[in-house]
Amino acid sequence: MPKGGEVSVEQVSKSYGANKVLDGVTLTFPSGSVTAILGQSGSGKSTLLRSVNHLERVDEGFIAIDGELIGYRREGDTLYELKEKDILTRRADVGMVFQSFNLFPHLTVLENITAAPVAVRGLPKREAERLARDLLARVGLGDKADAYPRQLSGGQQQRVAIARTLALKPKVLLFDEPTSALDPELVGEVLAVIRELARSGVTLIIVTHEMGFAREVADTVVFMDRGRVIEAGPPAQIFANPRHPRTAEFLGRAL
Ligand code: ADP
Ligand code: MG
Repeated sequence: MPKGGEVSVEQVSKSYGANKVLDGVTLTFPSGSVTAILGQSGSGKSTLLRSVNHLERVDEGFIAIDGELIGYRREGDTLYELKEKDILTRRADVGMVFQSFNLFPHLTVLENITAAPVAVRGLPKREAERLARDLLARVGLGDKADAYPRQLSGGQQQRVAIARTLALKPKVLLFDEPTSALDPELVGEVLAVIRELARSGVTLIIVTHEMGFAREVADTVVFMDRGRVIEAGPPAQIFANPRHPRTAEFLGRAL
């Protein structure tokens, strides 16, 4: 795995019409850190992740990975939006895993994983396949290379989706509620893979409702409420002594 990237989010705001979804968010995710983002539905968690991946444009502020602006280049004091092709190249540094696994149904597991490295990174097919098989072994699915997504359980599909994301060798990995669509008995196998990634040096940002997991794996927990970061700190402190009443209220309901 390449060394994790440092993500800096600086005074980012974004509105949908009159609805201010991100409101002056400033956060730094150090290289190799593991951050869990918590907060109730509608607080802006997904929008923040999507902005880091430049799937959303922000209205104010900026986001950079290792000092490189996401989606823009700077000339003097002016920002210019990058061309689609350059956006795609930079986006490959940031992997994203969604709640719905989004595998291609008509491709095998192996083909799902090799498609992007061949297309985006220009990897020779043989090499992409070797990498894909290594990654499948790593997520515990070494025997599923030729299966189609519909032949796999939700937990297995999500592990394929993680392997597919890793195949682009991202410096930053974003997980948006990766276990929320899974039956309870399948949650553990996906969390185990993420737990292993947390030790690999890649920078992880995970939106989750799995409080126990956040507490165990994250080095920082961030609470969002109505588009703002209301609290951030080490899990031991936040879970034991939340400073903000809305954090306390959220934890009281969730735990
Ligand atoms: P969370 O992930 O914390 O549940 P989201 O970032 O998905 O929150 O959404 C934050 C707010 O932005 C919600 O009020 C949601 O309805 C709104 N929103 C999200 N995406 C869009 C969109 N594409 N168009 C309009 N409103 C949106
Ligand atoms: Mg969301």
